[in-house]
Order: sequence, then structure tokens, then C-alpha cells
Amino acid sequence: MERLWAPWRAQYVASFTRADQMSECFLCAAAKSAREHDRELLVVARWESCFALLNRYPYNSGHVMVAPYRHVGEMEELADAELCELMVRVREVLRALKSELSPHGFNVGLNLGRAAGAGLPEHLHIHIVPRWHGDTNFMPVLAEVKVVSQALEEVYERLHAALHGGS
Ligand SMILES: [Zn+2]
Repeated sequence: MERLWAPWRAQYVASFTRADQMSECFLCAAAKSAREHDRELLVVARWESCFALLNRYPYNSGHVMVAPYRHVGEMEELADAELCELMVRVREVLRALKSELSPHGFNVGLNLGRAAGAGLPEHLHIHIVPRWHGDTNFMPVLAEVKVVSQALEEVYERLHAALHGGS
């Protein structure tokens, strides 16, 4: 695999190393925090049993995670209603990302267990990563451009508005 210039990935890994040593997981911390902190925690929407937040160290612009409020690591531990809402909200996020960022495709999925690459295996979350033609081949160049030109704050504002009936 080619080496990518991706300093935010290094921070991402470092943050999880630290997270491992902390008692509370960052998803629970975000889930429990007051709404006035949503912007700084990058929480774009809260629903009945799950919520969505932007990944602070994204694989790509607009990388969103949808997670249940409950600290649950296995699909089997989710109630039917939680699982249903999770998928319905993933669809809602996809719709918002399409309207705001016009990606050409998406990677949507779960990493269950550390062996599968989960950074936080104790609290499952569905990754939604927008993809554009050519962004694999030109990741080192495009990633840098994207991070600079479409900052997290801008993506946050657009997605937050789209998920709350705006734009
Ligand atoms: Zn948790």
C-alpha cells in the first residue's frame, strides 16, 4: 500500500490510543453532552435512539458517524427499534451529504471488533464516507486540498442545516 500524506490520521490514531486509556468513550461523551456543545463536538443531529457526528480526523471530506446513544459494541445487542432507526438515519445523512457535497459515491459500513479495524470496538458506529471519482488515486493531493478548502466547520454548518430542514 502506498504511503499517504495524512497527518490527521496520525492524530486520529493517537486520539484513540489516548481514548483507550480514558474511562469514558468519546461517543458516550458526545451523546451525553449538552446540546450547546454540539458544534464543538461536531454532533450534526440527535434523534430518538441515535445521533450523528462528523469524524474529526476524516478519511474524506464529510465523513460522518452514526451511533446509538447506548454504549453497545455488537449488533446483536441492539433492539430492533434501535437498529431500524440507525439505518433510517444513515439514509437521512446520505440524503443530506448528497445535497450538500455532491459526492459520486459512498462507503458505508461498520468495523466490528478491533481485528476488523474498529478504533472504538466497545461502541459501534456506522461510518459514512463520501467518495469522489479519482479520490483514491489522488488522495495525497486531493486530501490536502479538501482539508484546506472545505474545513470541518463549513461541512458541519451545511450538514447541520440540511439535517434540520434547512438549505
Ligand atoms: Zn460509548
